[in-house]
Amino acid sequence: MNKATRKAVIAGNWKMNKTPAEAAALIEEMKPLVKDADCEVVLCVPYVDIAAAVEAAKGSNIKIGAENVHFKASGAYTGEISAEMLLACGVEYVIIGHSERRTYFGETDQTVNLRTLAALNAGLKVIVCVGETLEQRELGYTETLLKFQTKMALTGVTKEQLKNVVIAYEPVWAIGTGVTATDDQADEGNGFVRAAVAEAYGAEAAEAITVQYGGSMNAKNADGLVDKINVDGGLIGGASLKAADFAVIVKAASK
Ligand code: PEP
Repeated sequence: MNKATRKAVIAGNWKMNKTPAEAAALIEEMKPLVKDADCEVVLCVPYVDIAAAVEAAKGSNIKIGAENVHFKASGAYTGEISAEMLLACGVEYVIIGHSERRTYFGETDQTVNLRTLAALNAGLKVIVCVGETLEQRELGYTETLLKFQTKMALTGVTKEQLKNVVIAYEPVWAIGTGVTATDDQADEGNGFVRAAVAEAYGAEAAEAITVQYGGSMNAKNADGLVDKINVDGGLIGGASLKAADFAVIVKAASK
């Protein structure tokens, strides 16, 4: 397996944090710190921050993403945002199926798939999140679940569209908890995701796809995690709200 052929992606997930002015200020702080990155640098921000974030990131190597997208193009879906709308605002990436969406907002594998298709068909790049709960892990279902979630999310996605797909393996028990998967657990989980892609699209596609790890990745533990053969960067929550910490993680993925 040749990891060097894949581009690592470090993506921040700001969740429900930062006003537009705060978002612009944080991006201004980050820009000089990540400008020499040898990985893709993405910040996924709340909808209301997108305009300010796109403006602040202009001319830099920071790409702006959203944290969710609806699966319909338009219509009577109060409070929702379409892929076309995001694109029109300068968004390049969108997170789909984050565990917080699955847990608190009724996201299912089916709606994750619908959102993935809508985003890809509109021309966005997607970061699809998969991951097991602690209970599922303890019952021995991690591999089965990760393969199922991965294949469900990608149903109907063409091999060509797969080039615009990043998958984030995010064990639910590690998100926002301060409990990180060990380097080997992250590598194993990412390996299960990659194996699912191989089963669905073949070995070459599996070799090429970017699979991130996410779950309490921080400035201290990023090095060991991103060094693993199956780990192509990370999806970063808490630590992406601190410019210096985020920059250390970007640097770790740029080696
Ligand atoms: C996330 O929100 O995807 C995440 C991994 O959060 P944290 O880094 O805070 O665990």
